[in-house]
Amino acid sequence: MGMLLACGAFWRSQGKSASVAAVQTQLFRRARKGLEVAGGAVLRGLAPPSCPVTGEEVSGPGLLSPAGWRALHFIERPFCARCGVPFAADYGAGAECPACLADPPAFDRARAALVYDEASHALVVGFKHADRTELAPMFAGWMRRAAAGLLTADSVIAPVPLHRRRLVARRYNQSALLAAHIARRTPAVLCQDALTRVRATPPQKELSAEGRRRNVAGAFQVSEKRRPRIRNAHVILIDDVLTTGATLSAAARCLANAGAARVDALVLARVVKGGVGAI
Ligand SMILES: [Zn+2]
Repeated sequence: MGMLLACGAFWRSQGKSASVAAVQTQLFRRARKGLEVAGGAVLRGLAPPSCPVTGEEVSGPGLLSPAGWRALHFIERPFCARCGVPFAADYGAGAECPACLADPPAFDRARAALVYDEASHALVVGFKHADRTELAPMFAGWMRRAAAGLLTADSVIAPVPLHRRRLVARRYNQSALLAAHIARRTPAVLCQDALTRVRATPPQKELSAEGRRRNVAGAFQVSEKRRPRIRNAHVILIDDVLTTGATLSAAARCLANAGAARVDALVLARVVKGGVGAI
């Protein structure tokens, strides 16, 4: 079914002028990727479950080894009241980091469960690119804890969307999966289609902070049918990684323009200066 969807989207996106050879090559690549993914899932089903951080064998799927747990760095107070970057010392309630004071992000507050480092990079890559979706409930638990005080019955949980072409290629939106699991155990309202990605943007990985900002400017739109829900609402954006905050700021700006009263962000991991770079 996934292949059929991928092929259909591909044919639609190519138009009549594409050469047959190019189409065949592209279809072959997609078929091979589909087989690799399916093969990987079968092999994982046959292989003993492994820790997503260290690769060691564990007693069940979605579990971490003791060394895996030790390698992760959970973010604890004190941190910037605005973007959630950890502080080395406690500067008092409401203290913001120099970056937020100099150039405030478009979201009100951001919280992250983990520092983005080698260990959490392994988690994110497995979750995002290797179909390790069984990890989503555990990640959601960590994120709910990081969001203490942010999530209320009046909050609207909205994932950062993928463009439909990337969604077809990846077959799931990792942020939507996190949002669904976070919403399951909170009184907040889940709104999976609050935002749509109206422009396909190249990956942010290799871009500078300014390049990232330009890359995602105007990439999002609040869907027409969800505008009444967003107006005057407190929205919590869900994403996997916060790097410079450019994507979350672009999404937050879009929600604010649609009348959201406040927009916060909740991510699995965030880059901390001096740590691992962009994803
Ligand atoms: Zn900050």
